[in-house]
Amino acid sequence: MAVHPHYPHLFAPLPLAHITLANRIMMGSMHTGLEAEPGPLRRLAAFYRERAAGGAGLIVTGAFAPNREGRLQQEANTMMSAEDAARHKPITRAVHEAGGRILLQVLHSGRYGYHKEIVAPSPIRSPINPGTPRELRAAEIPAIIADFARAAGLAREAGYDGVEIMGSEGYLITQFLTPRTNRRQDEWGGTLANRMRFPLEILRQVRATVGRDFVVMYRISAIDLVEDGLTGDEIVTLAKAVAAAGADLINTGIGWHEARIPTIAQAVPPAAFAWTTERIKRAVRVPVVASNRIGTPEQAEAVLAAGQADMASLARPLLADAAFAAKAGRGERRAINICIACNQACLDHYFVGKEATCLVNPRACRETLLAAAPAAPAKRIAVVGGGPAGLSAAVSAAERGHAVTLFEAERRLGGQFNLAQVVPGKESFADSIAYHAGRLAALGVEVRLGQRAAPAALAGRFDHVVLAAGIRPRRPEIPGIDHPSVLGYADVLTGRAAVGPRVAIIGGGGIGFDVALYLLERGQASHRDPAAFARAWGIDRSLGLPGGLAADGPERPAPAHHITMLKRSPGPFGTTLGRSTGWVHRALLARNGVTQIAGAVYRRIDDRGLHIAVEGGERSIAADSIIICAGQEPFDDLLAPLAAAGQPATAIGGARLAAELDAKRAIEEGFSLAATL
Ligand code: NAP
Ligand code: SF4
Repeated sequence: MAVHPHYPHLFAPLPLAHITLANRIMMGSMHTGLEAEPGPLRRLAAFYRERAAGGAGLIVTGAFAPNREGRLQQEANTMMSAEDAARHKPITRAVHEAGGRILLQVLHSGRYGYHKEIVAPSPIRSPINPGTPRELRAAEIPAIIADFARAAGLAREAGYDGVEIMGSEGYLITQFLTPRTNRRQDEWGGTLANRMRFPLEILRQVRATVGRDFVVMYRISAIDLVEDGLTGDEIVTLAKAVAAAGADLINTGIGWHEARIPTIAQAVPPAAFAWTTERIKRAVRVPVVASNRIGTPEQAEAVLAAGQADMASLARPLLADAAFAAKAGRGERRAINICIACNQACLDHYFVGKEATCLVNPRACRETLLAAAPAAPAKRIAVVGGGPAGLSAAVSAAERGHAVTLFEAERRLGGQFNLAQVVPGKESFADSIAYHAGRLAALGVEVRLGQRAAPAALAGRFDHVVLAAGIRPRRPEIPGIDHPSVLGYADVLTGRAAVGPRVAIIGGGGIGFDVALYLLERGQASHRDPAAFARAWGIDRSLGLPGGLAADGPERPAPAHHITMLKRSPGPFGTTLGRSTGWVHRALLARNGVTQIAGAVYRRIDDRGLHIAVEGGERSIAADSIIICAGQEPFDDLLAPLAAAGQPATAIGGARLAAELDAKRAIEEGFSLAATL
């Protein structure tokens, strides 16, 4: 077989049980919310069909519980009966027709379930769940093991190529494994051998049920990142036992959900945890899969080339681009729509009970609902603005066959994404701009950079104008706002303005946090280098202590600036940030000693700094630089003249509504409008 010219390790086939995978790219398990579709799971089938057709070597479904108590949510996604298995047949048929391979993930949530019947080895409440679990009676445990085996048998009946037994992230199996959650005195608790009995019995019974010609993958917690978790030696002991008990393949999971160390957020460097997988790979003969923050084919290739793993698991990147693997295989790296690790439309949706989709790919999980029809007739479309909203509209309209001209006042595409990409952890926003630029070129969109479109250049020349000119930063009316110490956030993020050591930030929204992170973390290697990341978050890379936590905790370098962040409204800061990532940003600011003042009334700015009233008293905040991050106003000046000229036009993104603007809405609006043109 010829060696792949770009990614020789990634595109080497992998023999596994009775099958051979075409490549080493695995679409890891994700909860999408589509599992709740009543009856046959047709929407999931369409979702996975696209990923299989897009070249993923192996796909793993979202979680399905082996019994009712093990479900994650009140609404059960279970694999318990022949009827359950029948619901899955459209999925396995679709994936196999597309040439792919797919495993069903079997997950028992234990104390992490969001319902009233949660169970665990010991009755200890998790810090992230409201309910205390009921302690399992010894007699119940063999029945749960049998439930896992039955679920695997049903997966086989449904046509799956195998199962993934979910033994990481803090779910029931991990709850058995560690003294943190297992205080039992019987044969299921105490010594490591007793605590391992539960997963090993599951594997043995699953194997006995499904036979040899069925893939059994075990997802091991390669590092727990919680107190009283396993040590590195214990994890290696477990991995060897898992392989001996019948696993064909070991996938890795990183950290329990209750860990206070980020594992997939933007603050985590690429492939930051591949070293944990390497420890396991060295100890076992079965193939091992690396996961977490592997976002590009070159990152996956590097992990495999370094011998850290045999396969790479990418979940969100395949939500962002279903054809990730096929494009990488053809060497079309720049044609990949790169995941920016924001969690805004995937995990954050799941956490509030909404179906997942993707910020950079609004079609994800809506494959059956949003089939873009070719335009009839093709129209002349002008898009004003080359930020996220305009790029999305221009690409989507051109994909439908419209003749699109895009005007961008700056000399480069990207809009607010150009500012965001300098914030530590947001570097991949540049990939997203490059992807869109590549699509525009491939689709023949005429791009006019450095041109602020005037009404005369638009009216009467186009069938429709899409106004995506974005926003203007708000400049609040505070006496002294023209003082030389006052800077706009764009001045700071573009490096146009020097920032002094003492900083006041007016505004505590997403951009206020971004500016603070930029000032404090810029240049820190912890966003790029796994070893520096480990030091910054208190991870012990020798895994000598339980959970892989460092004895001395996180490193605490002196902050580069002393920052005070202010807002007028009462209450805590950061509540508008992403549900799954806001805590990381809040932790980074707290670690850097940022002072936060809510309920401030801005009095004036002068040579002594920012003067405010707060809690009935007057205060002065000495500041060399006062940075305005006070939200946005729509940049919609073209709307009135175009309307007066009778030119059909629609504003989207920030130009339509600046309040609560984020890139998710901007891109979604561009995509949706283009579908109607
Ligand atoms: P934002 O989140 O709406 O925050 C604006 C801030 O300005 C608020 O803290 C508000 O607080 C303050 N403010 C509003 N009007 C003001 C006035 N007249 N005078 C003084 N202060 C005023 O807007 P943003 O920070 O510009 O962010 C824009 C969008 O991008 C947001 O929706 C955000 O979610 C998104 N974004 C997200 C992230 C992220 O999640 N990491 C990063 C960047 C951007 P008070 O009204 O209490 O004073
Ligand atoms: Fe990636 Fe954000 Fe899309 Fe989730 S929503 S897949 S994190 S780009």
